[in-house]
Amino acid sequence: MESRPTTLKEYLSANGHSLTRSRQQVFNALADSDALSMSQLTRKLQSKMDRASIYRNIELFERLGIINRIQIGWKYKLELSDTFAEHHHHATCSQCESVISFEEDIEFESKISQLASSLNFALHSHSIELRGLCQKCQDTNLNT
Ligand SMILES: [Zn+2]
Ligand SMILES: [Zn+2]
Repeated sequence: MESRPTTLKEYLSANGHSLTRSRQQVFNALADSDALSMSQLTRKLQSKMDRASIYRNIELFERLGIINRIQIGWKYKLELSDTFAEHHHHATCSQCESVISFEEDIEFESKISQLASSLNFALHSHSIELRGLCQKCQDTNLNT
């Protein structure tokens, strides 16, 4: 997958938006941790801005493709998109809602490209979510 190094400032301005302090703070909060739920993100940023600003910025980031939503049942977590983070896939635990990220597998990635071209489909991106139970939850279930 091609990766273009871009800064948040460049990306926002290419899309007609300017970089504000709160946008940078929301971005940083997501950049220096694993996928976050909205409440985890709110907790991380509560000293820096109010809830409404967090929601506004997240809405903009989602619309511009700066972040991805990882669906976990009816809940979701947020993380930076492939434009700003290394391409990877997820395994999400349906019990404790942990998100395990794993590196891309070159063979697997090329299979996806082949599949897309066999459909004459111009592929822009893909995401793969594995759903199930993490090791810890499997163990917990056995012991109860
Ligand atoms: Zn789990
Ligand atoms: Zn992939």
